[in-house]
Amino acid sequence: MDARLSSLISPEEIAEKIRLIAFEINRQYKGKELTLIVVLKGAMCMAADLMRLIEVPFTVETVRAESYGARGTTPGELTLTGIERLEIAGRDLLIIEDIYDTGRTLDKISQALLEKNPKSLKTVVLLCRKSAPKRPDFTLFEISDEFVVGYGLDYKEHFRGLPGIFILHP
Ligand code: 5GP
Ligand code: MG
Repeated sequence: MDARLSSLISPEEIAEKIRLIAFEINRQYKGKELTLIVVLKGAMCMAADLMRLIEVPFTVETVRAESYGARGTTPGELTLTGIERLEIAGRDLLIIEDIYDTGRTLDKISQALLEKNPKSLKTVVLLCRKSAPKRPDFTLFEISDEFVVGYGLDYKEHFRGLPGIFILHP
């Protein structure tokens, strides 16, 4: 894949923030049981790292959100799959998502999950745009409007395995 990348956030910085967020989640959910809702595919890396530091009992579910696909950096129609089969009434939910950009994806997922009457619903995101209209409950890093890849995030399905986060230059 031919593209120019420049480093934005290092693996060490990510690891440090994951520890801080896990500490906060462990504190807030002490004595409770969580259901983690991992939004595929972008949140895979963060979910894998975060769940190994969560000390309260939890189960894991996945939902899939697709908007970019092969189009690269231009969002298209948003499709959600995997929500129908979830049995989450009365559960404490924590959505794990890669990036909060316009908020369209997380808002739509949150709405669909709330229709199933969970006990509570919070969100943790790896990245949040400084320009975003709202703030998730937990954010690891705030970034500007550049298109980024790595640590789960893709450009046309590539670069998800980079250990850090990189700006993709067009
Ligand atoms: P939103 O619905 O909040 O506008 O966008 C969220 C979704 O858009 C994310 O789940 C992610 O898949 C995609 N997205 C937004 N910005 C970026 C970016 O800079 N890089 C990548 N790889 N995906 C992005
Ligand atoms: Mg995504």
